[in-house]
Amino acid sequence: MNALEKALIARIEATGPISIADYMAECLMHPEHGYYQQQAVFGAEGDFITAPEISQMFGEMVGLWLADRWIKMGRPESLQLIELGPGRGTLMADILRATEPVEDFQDALNVHLVEASSQLRDEQRKRVPTAMWHDSLRTVPEGPALIVANEFFDALPIHQFEKRDGIWLERVVGVADGNLAPMLAQAGPQVSLIPNHLKQSPEGCVLEVCPAALSVIGDMAERFSLTSGAALIIDYGYRKSAPGETLQAVADHAYANPFSNPGQADLTAHVDFEQLARAATEKGLKSYGAANQGIFLMSIGLGARAQHLARSSEPAVQEQILADLTRLTADDQMGSLFKVLALQSYDLPPPPGF
Ligand code: SAH
Repeated sequence: MNALEKALIARIEATGPISIADYMAECLMHPEHGYYQQQAVFGAEGDFITAPEISQMFGEMVGLWLADRWIKMGRPESLQLIELGPGRGTLMADILRATEPVEDFQDALNVHLVEASSQLRDEQRKRVPTAMWHDSLRTVPEGPALIVANEFFDALPIHQFEKRDGIWLERVVGVADGNLAPMLAQAGPQVSLIPNHLKQSPEGCVLEVCPAALSVIGDMAERFSLTSGAALIIDYGYRKSAPGETLQAVADHAYANPFSNPGQADLTAHVDFEQLARAATEKGLKSYGAANQGIFLMSIGLGARAQHLARSSEPAVQEQILADLTRLTADDQMGSLFKVLALQSYDLPPPPGF
């Protein structure tokens, strides 16, 4: 039994079962034993690989999308460029490199990284030494802003509810036979976040809500109500809110039991893009998408970029470029499971890619 498991069992025995959200937060962000406090969680060596770690082309395309938004803002002299959950810092490094040729863009930039893990902050500092770090979007100074988040929202803690005898109960983590185990309890106040049209879901259905995600969207809306702004959110998830259970644990590129070995596996849930888009539009933002990642990337020029890179490469590298392109865009790979949502202030014209 690992140290986090012991600590969680002691806590639950003392004060009762905890919500899935509390459990996720402890597993991912515990200051000593949390998953993101370890090194080498990303990439071929780690537990999973993300789009920016697959290919530099991903960050380059995202960078050009962001630079286009800055141009459409009227090229403000000062811009807050913000990344939520930057991992190893690869995406931001690629964004900065790809946008070097965009006249005056780099001079306008103040780069802000919102990162909870001190280990990952150290990794990010190696690749983006000029950045400023924050615990939350709220402490980033005001001003025109562009925000990017790749595989950030899936790490935010969710609550799960299950309908039994016509009543929504909450799934919690308790202790059974000396081990952590999922069980049902009276629902906490977050049950009120279940969208109205899903409240009548049939017996046995499981629904997930993510208050932390809604709060980040609220912070974006507040920021973009004061000055121009756009956000690009990329993650795996579903386009329409629907019943279903998506909490998953991944360790060493394979699925694991979310309730064993806490802190040793990545715990995520699919992102409910409809819920994010609805929260954003209710708060005065314009939303675009969610588009499939494959279609988004190809329509902003990933194919042309790959061709350009391949032209000056050796055959082995050409093959790798083609393999990366396929991995990012094919429907049976990341192309349609991953989705892209753009949120903007109303003064901006529609973004490319949707
Ligand atoms: N964007 C990166 C990493 C994705 S993993 C990539 O695509 O490779 C999720 C990232 O979000 C990690 O950097 C993790 O430490 C960070 N993170 C998760 N929850 C967070 C929170 N509540 N606040 C700030 N950062 C968080």
